[in-house]
Amino acid sequence: MNVRCTRCGAAADPLRICACGGLPEFAAPSTRIDAAGLKRLLRERRASYEPLFASGVWRLRELLPPIAAEHVISLREGNVPVYASAAGARFCGADRVSYLHLGMNPTGSFKDLGMTVAISAAHALGARAVVCASTGNTASSMAAYAARAGMRAYALVPRGKVSAVKLAQMRDYGATLIEVEGSFDDAFAKLGEIEGAVLVNSINAYRIEGQKCAAFALLDERSWRVPDWVLLPGGNLGNISAFAKGFREARELGLIDRLPRLALVRAQRGVDTCASAIAVADPKSLERAHRELERFGGIELALDDAEIFAAKAAIGREGIGCEPASAASLAGAKALRERGDITRDHDVVCVLTGHVLKDARAYDNAA
Ligand SMILES: *Cc1c(COP(=O)(O)O)cnc(C)c1O
Ligand SMILES: [Zn+2]
Repeated sequence: MNVRCTRCGAAADPLRICACGGLPEFAAPSTRIDAAGLKRLLRERRASYEPLFASGVWRLRELLPPIAAEHVISLREGNVPVYASAAGARFCGADRVSYLHLGMNPTGSFKDLGMTVAISAAHALGARAVVCASTGNTASSMAAYAARAGMRAYALVPRGKVSAVKLAQMRDYGATLIEVEGSFDDAFAKLGEIEGAVLVNSINAYRIEGQKCAAFALLDERSWRVPDWVLLPGGNLGNISAFAKGFREARELGLIDRLPRLALVRAQRGVDTCASAIAVADPKSLERAHRELERFGGIELALDDAEIFAAKAAIGREGIGCEPASAASLAGAKALRERGDITRDHDVVCVLTGHVLKDARAYDNAA
């Protein structure tokens, strides 16, 4: 599959930023299977005991960069629930709200969908080591998949800014932890100092290919009924770029006939927010995410910690729960409902990106 720079359009290396500063991205897949055939194939594979197809990512392998099965490193990621939420609907004053809970992945965040593809691609290349900068979840996921592949993993994290649970995961999976003074952005700037390791941050185009599968999983689970809105918390903005790519490809393949509107919810307090997973000052995918928002009639908004925590409490009180950053999606739905962009009859999907146990300090639910 062909890889191009999203800024200048030149042929690009999937593992590196282009000379112009743009990010590499795989072209849309071409398959001879028609839409009805693809839908049927996905259903059959969901029911299969074949280990490759037990993964919600590799089940879609015709739509992914070609990687031989012997190189696939999978932890059965991508089989996550969609929960209809009465409390979420009440919280934002809409009739239909549901959660796509990507925190229910093997290491507790959506990062696993992208990491299985990035680590498999690195394995196919014969890589011995991988590296990332992280607010915690990328590094936890990288550490697990690298361990399973027999590779070394180097995690650059901002000192004092990562939850104890995420650090415990990295240690448990045997990663080498390098704590950097400052923020996520400072850790990212130090990546060049680790030589000989494949970079698995979301500038790695394989990550986006894996993460786009979340859009297909959501649509499949809803029998291909397109929601009116999909809301996502954003940090480095790889995930919203991946969802957008997935929805666009689903339409090009004839699986759906329209696109949902997308909303990107960021933290107003920037790198000081309690929603540490989205504490990113200078998102690497900003330009590409903005281009996608234009294609989707999208909206970007920034909310403060109080609004995010109120939404987190509503999600927790219904027995679902998520990590603080994830609740930004429901907080965003409430804000857009109040502004009138979301109307009462809209069908709203909030993406929950991380598991409730990821940040055990952060709860405020005594009410
Ligand atoms: C990584 C992460 C995000 C942000 O995703 P980006 O792709 O960086 O925008 C949001 N929530 C959680 C829980 C995360 O781990
Ligand atoms: Zn370029």
